[in-house]
Amino acid sequence: MIRDASRQAARLVAARALVEDILIPAEARMDAEDRMPDTARAAIRAQGLFGISIPETHGGLGLTMEEEAGLMLVLGRTAPAYRAVYALNSGGAAQILLRAGTDAQKRHWLPDLARGDRIACFCLSEAEAGSDAAALTTSARRDGDGWCITGRKRWVTNAPEAGMLMVMARTGGEGARGISAFAIDPALPGIEVQPAQAKMGMRGAQVADVVFDNVAVPPDALVGAEGEGLKLALAGLDKVRLHLAALSAGLMERLIDEGRRHALARRQFGTPIAEQPAIGALFADSVAEALAARCMALELARARDDGTLRPADAAAAKLFATEALGRVADRMLQVHGGEGYMVGSAVERLYRDVRLLRILDGTSEIQRMVVARGLLR
Ligand SMILES: Cc1cc2nc3c(=O)[nH]c(=O)nc-3n(C[C@H](O)[C@H](O)[C@H](O)COP(=O)(O)OP(=O)(O)OC[C@H]3O[C@@H](n4cnc5c(N)ncnc54)[C@H](O)[C@@H]3O)c2cc1C
Repeated sequence: MIRDASRQAARLVAARALVEDILIPAEARMDAEDRMPDTARAAIRAQGLFGISIPETHGGLGLTMEEEAGLMLVLGRTAPAYRAVYALNSGGAAQILLRAGTDAQKRHWLPDLARGDRIACFCLSEAEAGSDAAALTTSARRDGDGWCITGRKRWVTNAPEAGMLMVMARTGGEGARGISAFAIDPALPGIEVQPAQAKMGMRGAQVADVVFDNVAVPPDALVGAEGEGLKLALAGLDKVRLHLAALSAGLMERLIDEGRRHALARRQFGTPIAEQPAIGALFADSVAEALAARCMALELARARDDGTLRPADAAAAKLFATEALGRVADRMLQVHGGEGYMVGSAVERLYRDVRLLRILDGTSEIQRMVVARGLLR
């Protein structure tokens, strides 16, 4: 649902300029320094992107899913590490607050998140609880009026600059029903963010473990009812999956542009390689997959706005788009030949970055499980 076509059109024009003039030129530096350049962060903040889907009443842009998908098609045309910094603020943590938070909790956290004054981290995964999130063991036991949290969360995106932690912890009982959500200030005594870990790509969005050593947490940190945490986290997955499908379609389009530029400029055997049918076929398959992902993301975004989206369809879109993105990145690297393999080319950087999207927010195998269950049960 597009609520105001002219506002959305203006937003897309501004996002295109942001991507072309500021974000793409800063990609190589961000990758080299593993830090988002300040100019890029300021420009992202100025466009309100930290608050993409936080309602306007809490200081965000309050976009519908269709508006968000349209925006991500444009913002996908640059390094996805930018998105991993700004979009997580209106992702899992904010969505849980919006769904189950008290008015006081919303007022306390959401305006800061929407402005990018605080960076939100989503603390679910642990060493023994990855795809099987319900196996987590971080505990929250009653301590006076409040809670005492102990455990270790693994690979928390943006942890080195965390301004808010949405922590999933076990308050009692086995499996998913024993898990509760807590919105926590990272400055509380007993919380330690470990050094950032080196990773293959997505440099600029740092990842670190977070250790909770008997952290005394106030009673109003609990979001929603006790035992509802994982349910709340999973309820936001459709939205994340469509967001990532749109992002992936944008990334495919960028990769195709990079490949096209190279194929037209690079001459072998006396002609541009673009004239070789074998190279043309790499583009044809890539364009078809990018287009399919774009259409899927927009169509299902509209279905989500209408309330008719089936969860299995969101999983199918994430599965298709991120797997297709992997194939497109591989083909466009092939178009570049040896140049695509050398450190420093855009296609080499994006090839490393996009690999994560088949692992995050449910691996491809987990998406297939959701799709198959939707059909067969
Ligand atoms: C860079 C990065 C950033 C991250 N950021 C965050 C974050 O901010 N917050 C957070 O909580 N987590 C984060 N994670 C963790 C991420 O969510 C997990 O990596 C992901 O859920 C997969 O879990 P795993 O890595 O333990 O893989 P595993 O679950 O061990 O899976 C390994 C393989 O087995 C397959 N597999 C597992 N179970 C099944 C099954 N039942 N059927 C078929 N195949 C199966 C998987 O698909 C995969 O191929 C991050 C990870 C990375 C790498």
